[in-house]
Amino acid sequence: MHTNYTNKKQDRRVFEGSSSSGKDSLRIFMYGVDLVIPDVRYLEDKKQYIRGLVFTHGHDDHIGGIQYIYFKLGNVPMWGTTLTAAFANIKLTERKLKGRVTPVDFDRVLQIGPFTVSFNRVTHSVPDAAHLVITTPLGIIYHGSDFKFDFDPLDGKKSELEKINAAGKKGVLCLLTDCLGSERPGFTPSEQVVGTTLAKELALAPGKVLFTTQSSNISRIQLAIDLALKYGRKIAFFGRSIDQNVEAALKLGFMRFPREAIIRDQDLRRLPAVKQFLIVAGAQGQEGSALSRVANDDHKFVRVGEGDTVVFSADPIPGNEHSVNVVIEELYRRGARVSYSDIMEDLHVSGHGSQGDLMLLLSAVGPKYILPIGGTYKHMMQYRRLAADLGYNKRDVLIPEEGQVLEFRPGVPPRVVETIELENVMVDGLGVGDVGNVVLRDRQTIATEGIVVIVVPIAKSTGQVTAEPDIISRGFIYMKESGRLLDDARRVVSQSLRLKKGRILDWRFVRKQVGENLEMFLFKETGRRPLIVPVIVEV
Ligand SMILES: [Zn+2]
Repeated sequence: MHTNYTNKKQDRRVFEGSSSSGKDSLRIFMYGVDLVIPDVRYLEDKKQYIRGLVFTHGHDDHIGGIQYIYFKLGNVPMWGTTLTAAFANIKLTERKLKGRVTPVDFDRVLQIGPFTVSFNRVTHSVPDAAHLVITTPLGIIYHGSDFKFDFDPLDGKKSELEKINAAGKKGVLCLLTDCLGSERPGFTPSEQVVGTTLAKELALAPGKVLFTTQSSNISRIQLAIDLALKYGRKIAFFGRSIDQNVEAALKLGFMRFPREAIIRDQDLRRLPAVKQFLIVAGAQGQEGSALSRVANDDHKFVRVGEGDTVVFSADPIPGNEHSVNVVIEELYRRGARVSYSDIMEDLHVSGHGSQGDLMLLLSAVGPKYILPIGGTYKHMMQYRRLAADLGYNKRDVLIPEEGQVLEFRPGVPPRVVETIELENVMVDGLGVGDVGNVVLRDRQTIATEGIVVIVVPIAKSTGQVTAEPDIISRGFIYMKESGRLLDDARRVVSQSLRLKKGRILDWRFVRKQVGENLEMFLFKETGRRPLIVPVIVEV
């Protein structure tokens, strides 16, 4: 997760709000949480200094949190390149919010407060990705968000190297740079590679072909459509995110295909399997996604079986491996042939530059300081080593910890001036931020250790315990076959209650006591720590 902002006393401009749908391994522990969005509390009370939001590209980890945070920042103006704005506006419209991201051309220069912001086109796994050249009173900040140098991009629009060089010539104070690919030597291959692999799949497929990828990667979806048409197939889309993105991209001219190439869902049945090419959302194994429903044989229009092929043109985001594997295995059980990158090369290429791409940007920009972004700590450290090979002093590659605020002042090196407490704000269904750490910890305990509920009936009039406590458990151990354990547990509860003579006044204390004693007992007996919920019922 990264929300980047400048730290100047009077003018603070947020570069990018981002959401991480489990980009960090945290996802595995987030029981039932749909989305993690940036914690913007630090910025909320500095609203009056925020001049606007500028988005670099239309990926969910860069625009995905917008519908939850932008009003907290004071309904600030927002800008992004054409497709970026369109994708972000889908999210705002969906939440029925009034604010919109204003689309800007790559040659526009924005004047925002004391800053000017210009856009350099770069290639990435979504079209219209940009780097930002931000001129501040202190010097130029080059915001080098996600990119790779694809010299043969699918849409023919190459990275604007001459503009990158021009920024470098002016002298750049600090380069913020993508560093996710800093462990990979060489250059990241072009998106074209995927086409060659997919063509082979299509040439061999005897039945229907299902294709799944990141739904924002419309260039790759376009590539897949072109190939499918060449092999005489018709196209159908399944999944809301794909529908919305394709529709927006078509309207803006980022995609092109004849309308008659599309077949309606309900007409699929009449089309021979070998004529079907289905583009299906759910490449990350998301629960309830179109692909996961197909895998569970629970989709209204799509069935797969013997002879059908499913192509995964995406790698699992760290933390999603398990969900993806579950879907792959279910698809196998249905009889489908499944192609994914563990068993087949070049079904997916990264949108992030490798060492060659990263060092090319660094050489062109030639900044005084470097701040690697968009990766984890190890990617940043690896980037520092690469920069050292190019002659940079390690000190000038800034690697702050999460929450640290860097300050730039004239004549002195940037330094950490403040550390802010950041929390993951979790979106669970419709609520935002109502799932705290406690809720999450409880869900985790229930999932791994089970739950034990103790019901203690007391008389309303006297406050006395009226009957034996009842113990109910789920996901812990099969209690019916553990009669002795159950009896002993009940005894522990009764003893905890008996500590209090006569009428019990402080039920909170008693509840705690019962919980602690039972937890200790169960741990001693079973080695497990289920979630214990003592319930006092007045009768
Ligand atoms: Zn990206």
